[in-house]
Parts: sequence; structure tokens; C-alpha cells
Amino acid sequence: MLSAWEESSVARVLPPARPRKLAKVPFVELADGRLQGVVSSGSDIGRVYVSSVAAGDFAFTCSTNNNRPCGGAHGGFCKHIEALIGEAVLQYGAERVARYLRVELANGRSEAWDITRTMGASRPPQGDKTAAAPVFSRFLRHLAYLELVPTTTPLPEMQWFPPTRAVA
Ligand SMILES: [Zn+2]
Repeated sequence: MLSAWEESSVARVLPPARPRKLAKVPFVELADGRLQGVVSSGSDIGRVYVSSVAAGDFAFTCSTNNNRPCGGAHGGFCKHIEALIGEAVLQYGAERVARYLRVELANGRSEAWDITRTMGASRPPQGDKTAAAPVFSRFLRHLAYLELVPTTTPLPEMQWFPPTRAVA
């Protein structure tokens, strides 16, 4: 079983394991028993996809912010879900992503590719699409922090932004 802090989105306050590319995957979280987040469209800057993979059975969903199903996510993981897994590994570290999703890696390796391939090989089912709306609204709430006046008080939810410079 996961401990309470691992189940909780509060775990997001940990600093990213490695810097992430926010333009590609602006929002990623391990919450609600899922890896979920928002992935930019490769072709249309005005469109984003809300993607998720559930812990345990790896049930996956991918749809646009307008709730249109992703054309690439019929039989298996689309490129958005692959990008989400890759960025989650940068954010949380591969071990933690694998543990949260309950991925048993046969060869003991845990890189993003191993996690993606192991989950995909289990022929995961389509997930519950109703999950997308709360994920997207949390993403919008995170964006709202960008409008806050500058402050030196720590904002725990800002931790998913990688530091751009050292604080003196
Ligand atoms: Zn997709």
C-alpha cells in the first residue's frame, strides 16, 4: 500500500528530480491514484490534452481540453501519454513513478521507456474519461499563480516550476 503522503497531491511539493520542459507538459501530478497531467499539442499551440494513466491496471485516457477524444489513444498509449510519463519521471524520478503506478519492472530497470513499455505490454483498458475535468481545472488554478505578485513567501504549489536561478 502507498502511504498517505504518496496518495496525496501534497507530495507535489518535492522539488523536481530533474528540470522539466514546461512548454511540452505544463502540468503533471501523481494524484487520485493516477499519473495525470496536461500535455501541449504538438501542432496547435491553442490546444492541450488532458492525459492520465491509473495505478494498478494502467487504464488510460487522453482527450482535449474541449473533451474531444485523442485520435491517437484508441488501442494504446498515444504520444501525449508517453510525454506525460517522460515528464513525470523527470519531475518525480522513475522509481517513484513506477511505485505509484504499481509497475513491476521485470529487469529491475526503471527509466521512462521501461515504465511506458511495461504498462503498454499489459494491454491497458480505456479509463474513466470523467477524470479529465478536475485535472484541467487544477491546471488552470496553477496557472493563476503566475498572476500573483512577487513574494519571498514559499508557495508549495509552485514547486513544480524548476528554479531558474539561485536565491542569494
Ligand atoms: Zn493523446
